[in-house]
Amino acid sequence: MFDVQKIRKDFPILQREVNGKPLIYFDNAATSQTPQQVIDVIVDYYSNYNANIHRGVHSLSQEATDAYEQARLKIQTHFNAKHSHEIIFTSGTTHGINLVANGFSSILKKGDEIMVSALEHHSNIVPWQMLCERTGATLKVIPMNQNGELILSEYDELLNENTKLVFVNHISNALGTINPIEYIIKEAHKVGAAVLVDGAQSCPHIRPDVQALDVDFYVCSAHKMCGPTGVGMLYGKEEWLNTLPPYQGGGEMIAEVSFEKTTYAGLPHKFEAGTPNICGGIAFGAALDFMNTIGFDNIAKYEDELLDYGTAELLKIEGLKIYGTAKNKTSVISFNVGSIHPYDIGTILDKMGIAVRTGHHCAQPIMDFYKIPGTIRASFMFYNTKAEIDAFITALKKAIMMLS
Ligand SMILES: *Cc1c(COP(=O)(O)O)cnc(C)c1O
Repeated sequence: MFDVQKIRKDFPILQREVNGKPLIYFDNAATSQTPQQVIDVIVDYYSNYNANIHRGVHSLSQEATDAYEQARLKIQTHFNAKHSHEIIFTSGTTHGINLVANGFSSILKKGDEIMVSALEHHSNIVPWQMLCERTGATLKVIPMNQNGELILSEYDELLNENTKLVFVNHISNALGTINPIEYIIKEAHKVGAAVLVDGAQSCPHIRPDVQALDVDFYVCSAHKMCGPTGVGMLYGKEEWLNTLPPYQGGGEMIAEVSFEKTTYAGLPHKFEAGTPNICGGIAFGAALDFMNTIGFDNIAKYEDELLDYGTAELLKIEGLKIYGTAKNKTSVISFNVGSIHPYDIGTILDKMGIAVRTGHHCAQPIMDFYKIPGTIRASFMFYNTKAEIDAFITALKKAIMMLS
């Protein structure tokens, strides 16, 4: 049984007030809140077994190593990776993307093509532009339509035997569109291109199966799925991870070092130079446990209800326009009201205890497409309620009155 009131009790922050009003947190697409179960794991780590991992013979180091590697196994199981060494701990989505982009700079050459979608976050655009500058490869863009859906017929036309890599997010953080990555991966493989999926926005809502998807790389951040900031994972197929050169040099990632020659450690350590975010990794595992206890089917069903309800209520407001009306979308609503600046509405909502995001959402090309400077974005998680949406609508109407 999905009991939202019971779930809310697990989140201490949801009990607080902001500007004298109960907090209504609708900025989940930027970062999610952390349940007590995950906070407890963090406190327990620093209270009881904080030590550096992998190198120590002493007990604390063993305990920390075991817990960290246990978390890797949880992540492997969650994403259904074939091997645990296909799971690389990163500092987050951005780090994972840069790791792969850097690896491909020794593989790509002039004349090669790589492709991104028009729906990308800056972190899935800029590293690829840098990669093109380094290698002479060309960047192509899969265009989108007015609903914020990728135009697959154009994708098919752009694909050719020069295409080496395709990068696409699973869910757009700016519009909430769920992209048809199954199709994108299948078609890319037909021309021999690899696919990296940015799962930063999908992992809070759905449970991807990397083997069923046959995806080459999949990246995400723990902080968008009830975990702490500064940790995430990169899944890569074993063959790819063996092919790519290491990203950073340092401790942990070596087999043997002399001044003449260094040999690298095997997977996953080859990509994990230096002391990692040990506590963060362990807490990431705890966050997955927490979300799996609620169940991703329950989460998706409930969030769809919030999305439908929020969309219907917002559309009753005169002059309000929603950007991103894809058939297949998740609980992110981007909108504007008449010519009122998003920032002004966001500021007034904050005075009433309501946290939304305003601006370009690290996706300026999408804003350019719609010829707007930005939007107001309300993004819901499974711990939000219809009552919160009602309070948000009331506050929004007040803000509109004050500003028009
Ligand atoms: C948040 C986000 C990122 C960046 O994640 P970081 O945790 O900041 O590295 C990348 N892509 C999408 C779609 C996102 O929502």
